[in-house]
Amino acid sequence: MADVKPIIDVKNLSIDYYTIEGVVHAVREVSFRVYSRESACLVGESGSGKSTVGLTIALALPENARIPKGQVLFEGVDLTRISEEERVKYAGKEVSIIFQDPSATLNPLFTIGEQIQDILRYNLGIHDSSEAMKIAEEMLKKVGLPDAKRVLRSYPHELSGGMAQRVNIAIALSTKPKLLIADEPTTMLDVTLQAQILDLLRKLKEELNLSMIFITHNLGVAAEICDRIIVMYAGVILEEGLTNDVLINPLHPYTKGLLECVPRAHRKVQKLKYIPGTLPDLRFLPKGCVFAERCSDVMDICRRSPPPYVEVTPNHKVACYKYKR
Ligand code: ATP
Ligand code: MG
Repeated sequence: MADVKPIIDVKNLSIDYYTIEGVVHAVREVSFRVYSRESACLVGESGSGKSTVGLTIALALPENARIPKGQVLFEGVDLTRISEEERVKYAGKEVSIIFQDPSATLNPLFTIGEQIQDILRYNLGIHDSSEAMKIAEEMLKKVGLPDAKRVLRSYPHELSGGMAQRVNIAIALSTKPKLLIADEPTTMLDVTLQAQILDLLRKLKEELNLSMIFITHNLGVAAEICDRIIVMYAGVILEEGLTNDVLINPLHPYTKGLLECVPRAHRKVQKLKYIPGTLPDLRFLPKGCVFAERCSDVMDICRRSPPPYVEVTPNHKVACYKYKR
């Protein structure tokens, strides 16, 4: 991919949240790229900073967030330094986001048609309501809702979870974004629906030439949909590589742990596996590796200073002293 330009180039990005209990250093010195038409996955357990990174790229961070350091270059433009007028060009247009909970993003007081019309008016300047409805209908058909007319007349509570998530996908794609951020879009759905939504996203990505950042805590889901996997833990990247490389030859003990947690049909396990221990308090960071306290391979040096991020094989990087060259 060396000759292809990245659509997103995240450089040394750090994000803090200001709370009454102190400053939460949610993301620290994170760097990664996503290339055109590629799908990259941010994987990690709850609290690892995946959504924070996604929200930063989507220009949707909450008020109490600050970016003390770093850049988010979208086709070369630093999204962390743009003016309010420029924001409008990117947020929800060039970059769209789908959230985990479909019902939370739809307003219960308005029909789906009214909500899509608003978005088309605001984001694309389409004021003619019959034109907007026509576009909305086509969009809903594209995401696998054949009974589009009825869906447009429905209120969010009248839709099933799967239908609501399809509507959300349609809304996110209505502005023809170049980059789609999908933040755990299938977590709230049952397994059959999960598979259907993953299929749909895969299909739409190809059809619309999208680049995608897919966020999930499940490596199994990541394997289904992503070209590349970026493993996050407690606000930093611990490993990054092509999906096959990471799954077949995981380097970091944390990635190995995550893989063990993916249920497999052929393995007879009584209990679901988990990695013992919890994430460190992100207000008071450890001196060394953030995973040291939970790592079965921990060494003295791991507790003294953070490990360097090394490229072990081409495009397969890891932050772990076991691989220090
Ligand atoms: P999950 O899988 O649960 O969605 P995540 O990997 O997306 O987790 P984030 O939501 O990015 O993680 O959170 C990273 C850290 O930032 C967590 O410690 C979280 O408590 C904290 N955090 C997130 N949002 C806020 C906020 N608005 N104010 C304060 N702290 C926050
Ligand atoms: Mg999240």
